[in-house]
Amino acid sequence: MSTVRRKRTMSETGISKREAMLISAHRSGASLERVAGVMAECVAHWERVVAGEEWEDVGSSDCAACRAWRNSGADRCYACPIRITGGDNCRDTPYPALAFHMDQHDGDCGPECEDRRLLAQEELNFLRGFVAAADGVRDHGPGAKGAEDEDGEGG
Ligand SMILES: [Zn+2]
Repeated sequence: MSTVRRKRTMSETGISKREAMLISAHRSGASLERVAGVMAECVAHWERVVAGEEWEDVGSSDCAACRAWRNSGADRCYACPIRITGGDNCRDTPYPALAFHMDQHDGDCGPECEDRRLLAQEELNFLRGFVAAADGVRDHGPGAKGAEDEDGEGG
């Protein structure tokens, strides 16, 4: 059985796991603005995929996050926030089901394929969570007022 994680609740006391992934990507060398920008690019791209405008452009070379973080030679994704699922190459995200569908439906799939659209929408929803998390990072991530204050609330 595959496990579908749809955790939407933010941690009540700390940062969400998505926020933690964004901060981790930031600490690996990209500015927070850049990290947030890449995820926003991903969302914009997948909106076009869902809409059918770029329905076939779902490979690594089409992905802003892959361009930012993935080393295709090593087949590793390093600091990519999408590694939130614990694996490289979008493992356990909604993406593999879409790739499988398009592969199986080869020659028949297209912008009008409803299954394709629904599967792509799943990926879009998944990615939108990172854009929402980027707003959270701005509010209480590194650089935010009071963040990383090891002595607690002393003021
Ligand atoms: Zn199809």
